[in-house]
Amino acid sequence: MATHQFQTEVNQLLNLIIHSLYSHKEIFLRELVSNSSDALDKLKYLTLTDDAFKSMEFDPRIDIEFTDGDSGKTLTVRDNGIGMNNDDLLENLGTIAKSGTKSFLGQLTGDAKKDSNLIGQFGVGFYSVFMVADRAEVISRKAGEDQAWKWESDGKGDFEISEAERDGQGTTVILHLGEEGAEFASRWQIEQIIKKYSNHIAFPIWLHYEKTEYDDKGTETGKTPTTEQINSANALWKRSKSEISEEEYNDFYKTLSHDTEDPLITLHTQAEGTMEYTTLFYVPKKAPFDMYQVDYKPGVKLYVRRVFITDDEKELMPTYLRFVRGVIDSEDLPLNVSREILQQNRVLNKIKDSSVKKLLGEFQRVAMNEPETWNTFIEEFNRPLKEGLYSDFANRETLMELVRFKSTREEGWTSLEKYKERMLPDQKAIYYITGDNEETLRRSPLLEAYRKKDIEVLIMADDVDEVVVPTLGTYKDLELKAVNRSDAGEDLKEEKDKKKDKELKPVIERMKTVLGDRVKDVVTSVRLADSPSCMVVDESDPTMKMAQMMKAMGNMDLPEVKPILEINPDHAIVTRMKAMGEDDDRFADAAFLLLEQALLVEGQQLKDPAGFVERLNRVMERAL
Ligand code: ADP
Repeated sequence: MATHQFQTEVNQLLNLIIHSLYSHKEIFLRELVSNSSDALDKLKYLTLTDDAFKSMEFDPRIDIEFTDGDSGKTLTVRDNGIGMNNDDLLENLGTIAKSGTKSFLGQLTGDAKKDSNLIGQFGVGFYSVFMVADRAEVISRKAGEDQAWKWESDGKGDFEISEAERDGQGTTVILHLGEEGAEFASRWQIEQIIKKYSNHIAFPIWLHYEKTEYDDKGTETGKTPTTEQINSANALWKRSKSEISEEEYNDFYKTLSHDTEDPLITLHTQAEGTMEYTTLFYVPKKAPFDMYQVDYKPGVKLYVRRVFITDDEKELMPTYLRFVRGVIDSEDLPLNVSREILQQNRVLNKIKDSSVKKLLGEFQRVAMNEPETWNTFIEEFNRPLKEGLYSDFANRETLMELVRFKSTREEGWTSLEKYKERMLPDQKAIYYITGDNEETLRRSPLLEAYRKKDIEVLIMADDVDEVVVPTLGTYKDLELKAVNRSDAGEDLKEEKDKKKDKELKPVIERMKTVLGDRVKDVVTSVRLADSPSCMVVDESDPTMKMAQMMKAMGNMDLPEVKPILEINPDHAIVTRMKAMGEDDDRFADAAFLLLEQALLVEGQQLKDPAGFVERLNRVMERAL
């Protein structure tokens, strides 16, 4: 026998689980059953694909037993799945190998309902048994091996592994229920929990209990040991759509995703013809916790003729649809598809392509007919959809109809289509402004002229907007133009602006000399109404934010992006600057302050904050 310490993180996790999920103790059973189901899936797969296991007799099942005697209460979950050897036990039930653990610890909210959701997603399920058990034993024998092993722990710091005996391959988990878990040594409790969480597990779950017998007069006559299957154990997705109730769809989603809430969107497709396959997809109400992590866990499981193949294949969905949960079951793929084959498999690629089309089609339907649902969708998944604009060229047009933006005109979200409908008769393009923060953008002086002329501007404050939107080019032949770029100003120019431009020439030239290489150019603005100045970037430069992002990503030798300073010819400050004599030293202060305030309102950092403060104080001293 060998005693081992739990990895530090396991101890941390155990504590957290026990305290945060306390009111959802029952999920321990869901976790054990889903582990058993995974183990059965793995062995079933081997019996179909691996010569060493092909001749084996395999009747996959999960058995649950309980005792409720004077010597204590126990609950046992047993499967004849793949099993674990000494090394497996050490690794699986002593450490947390998964990279998501740190973020898991960080994401716990203290809200039991939310946390119990997270826990399934992070795959730390087994440890939840210590919410109900004072001690747990895991007796396991790996398929193809003769020696069985016993893992044992009270969940407090260490565990032991010793040699053991077991008939046949599989795993038996014996929980010695403490006071906290006493209620689970009950036939009704177990049945109810299994029905709630594990009804659609593909394998039969058998409950063993003592049935009390009565005679005609209702007097107890004895007890008979009884074994009864307590789940329906069918592949829901294979049943005909018309026979499945919404509740069944929702329950299946919960078993699949470990979510406690109902899905937002459900899409069930049974394709027949040259290719036969079934897909059942769900969109959750909330974005998966790891949606923005590189090592996110894919949400779609692949089955071949109802045999589970993998739930760890990112290629089953395009990256931008990584929040979709569900099942793909193909009749045409070989069972022993390897990873490499999967990735370039023609059948699978076709299934994937049409799945994406179906999903996007369903999204369009929802966007059109169920605005409230679509709003929830957009709050959670607008950003990944925008990634699709960039990565899924084939579906770009559909995606353009689906994404939503904030706008200077409308409360809430708007579509490009609606923007187009609202455009002024002589408006030439779709205008948008990008940046970090919606509120800052709404107050940007760049929008003044558009507001005055009643032209709507889309507000784009998402990181991805900066990257994605400039690549779109046009929407239905309308050019998309960034108002924070030099070129968009051209559209606003009128005859009288040319005259103003001429009048301002001397001031502009003088400012260029003063500001030197701090600016790329100084020009007369046509965009400003109330503010004296604003900044834009040259058509050919990346925006300032883009440049910052590229720097942050390690792109150090990027040339510095210099702003183009635009001056409002009608503003009092500018008029006064025009009147200043050659030797007036206030001109330089004013020129710098115009540049600096333009940078500040766009959320930029100043190169020389101390200089800015000195200038400001000099001007204030004179003014006060
Ligand atoms: P998860 O199931 O999410 O990976 P768990 O903590 O529940 O996390 O289990 C850790 C690992 O232990 C599993 O990934 C699996 O490899 C192994 N395991 C757990 N239960 C069983 C079982 N009944 N049969 C075989 N392996 C199991």
